[in-house]
Amino acid sequence: MRNRVPRHIVCLTFDFDTQSGFIARGMTTPTPLSRGEFGALASKRILGLLKSHGIRATWFIPGFTIESWPKECAAVVSDGHEVAHHSWAHVPPANQSREEEEADLLRANNAIVKLTGRKARGYRSPSWDLSEHTIDLLVAHGFSYDSSLMGADYIPYRARKGDVAELGKPYKFGRETVLIEMPISWSLDDYPHFEFVRTPQTVLPGLQSARTVMENWFDEFLYMKRTTEWGVLTYTMHPYVIGRGYRMLALEEFVARLAKEGAVFMPMEDAALEAKAKLFS
Ligand SMILES: [Zn+2]
Repeated sequence: MRNRVPRHIVCLTFDFDTQSGFIARGMTTPTPLSRGEFGALASKRILGLLKSHGIRATWFIPGFTIESWPKECAAVVSDGHEVAHHSWAHVPPANQSREEEEADLLRANNAIVKLTGRKARGYRSPSWDLSEHTIDLLVAHGFSYDSSLMGADYIPYRARKGDVAELGKPYKFGRETVLIEMPISWSLDDYPHFEFVRTPQTVLPGLQSARTVMENWFDEFLYMKRTTEWGVLTYTMHPYVIGRGYRMLALEEFVARLAKEGAVFMPMEDAALEAKAKLFS
């Protein structure tokens, strides 16, 4: 049953947060809001780039963005991309009670049904911080994959529930669930490399050279090719971050190089289905 032909999948994923992340952090003065607003403008450029390369991607869209930027979200759908779940208000589940988390999950899924006609198959948590209930809730609500954990790089795995971490004791592993984990990494996310953030508590310098970052990202693909026969590599981007002109040029070149190296681009739901058939059937 194992297919010996090498196959290296790339999922380009876009977290279409617009202003939601700023509002969730209480940054509601005009300039931070406009910073998120830029994502709506940039989404059109990204859709154009994807179309010109014939790539279908996954857009993790908060309910907030669906209801605040309906035309931009409709364009994502009409271009054939997957729309996946990214909360309603961009509040990390780790900061919510189970009831709040479930209510937000349902509200955002309703927005996705209105936009696309279907419930989301995949979930990615805001700020990549799951609660102890998230996996359980995703399974209960029929999701097929999550993309918020970092326990692997190229090989999807089954998300566990009920792990116990206690200081001074060995780690206790919980039970594997049916949920496929499509692993991610901050190193393969545009945000920490590029965004300059200044708050009273911290300064994130960001503002790195786009081509240098993409060189690292490209090497990650080459290493996957060298070390696996079959694998999935996920890159995470935010329209208001990656959509700046010089980053778009670097992204365009990066995508062309990946294609030349044999990358198979697909939406994450398709990669999760392939992983399920290949690894867990
Ligand atoms: Zn986000």
